Amino acid sequence: MKEIVEFRINEDFAHRLFADNEGTKLGIVRKIVISVGDPRFGRIGELQKEVTAATGHAFFYGNRTLYRYSESEFADAPCFQLIIGATFEPPGELCGTKYDESTACLQCGAGAAQASDLRLDLRKVPKGKEIATTIADEIIVSQRLAERMTDAGLTGFELRPVRHKARYEDDPLDLHQAPTGREILRKAETAGSPHPTGKFWVWLNRAENRVLLEQARAEYAAVKTEANRRKGTRMPVWYQLVVTANTAEIVAPTRVGINPFDDDPKGECRCPLGDLIGLNLLSEVSISVASRGEADIVCSRQFIGTRHVVGPQAGLLRPRRVILISPKFREFLESEKIKGVVIEVAHLV
Ligand SMILES: [Zn+2]
Repeated sequence: MKEIVEFRINEDFAHRLFADNEGTKLGIVRKIVISVGDPRFGRIGELQKEVTAATGHAFFYGNRTLYRYSESEFADAPCFQLIIGATFEPPGELCGTKYDESTACLQCGAGAAQASDLRLDLRKVPKGKEIATTIADEIIVSQRLAERMTDAGLTGFELRPVRHKARYEDDPLDLHQAPTGREILRKAETAGSPHPTGKFWVWLNRAENRVLLEQARAEYAAVKTEANRRKGTRMPVWYQLVVTANTAEIVAPTRVGINPFDDDPKGECRCPLGDLIGLNLLSEVSISVASRGEADIVCSRQFIGTRHVVGPQAGLLRPRRVILISPKFREFLESEKIKGVVIEVAHLV
């Protein structure tokens, strides 16, 4: 097995270690893929400290470890980790999916139970993919893949319906096209705040008029959906992939931390209760034999990632469980030529 790491190096400082023509320039960052055995590998970690101390900026922002295997290493492995590469937003929560946050860990926020069918904006699913995940670890599979998984007799999962967020919920609302919309226009006129004056919007957003506005919005979406159905345009069918058991126990020597040079010694990204074990996996994963079970797909008990970030994704990310699959499941994915997944060897100890 060969271990390589893909970094997103800050372009402003890339020249400190790399030639100008090395890697792939992606605007403010440069993608550099480097073997862990490369003499410069350790220097990346040193530069991260030096550059941050001197300038307050990072030398690298993102990183992920990739493993290259020989055919026999793959053939002999008893278990694999399945990583879904195709990620999209918005997450279900922004499309009307309900979560019961009272079931989440009080310390780290991981593990809130989903309390409704998954609702997504299916227009945002990456094109050409048959399996994808939102930034909140909501995994979906296409109709074709769902059929093939079922036909292949794979075990350990359920497929649940995914509802498409009404296509027109985000569109600018045409009040003339909904009965309640027309009622709003009349009332606004009577109230001395006729459409489309500035006063109209203030009036419409008053608490007592919100119900009318929501009603008009729903009617408008229904009118549009119906018109679309008549035209014969339909969203492709997707299913939520729900793994039945979350019992696989991640054990040593699995390495989890912030980046290849920072194992998070202070435990800033770990939950003291032991459910969230860190921000990123930094090695192949090891699972205790006793917790593996028989199913072709199983999830870890523990979570990786974070619930708490600042910025535009604040509160929207959800820590993910590690997904483990059997050799049968891996062969299935390969024979079906499923794109957008990464398969790593996992160890049973
Ligand atoms: Zn926790």
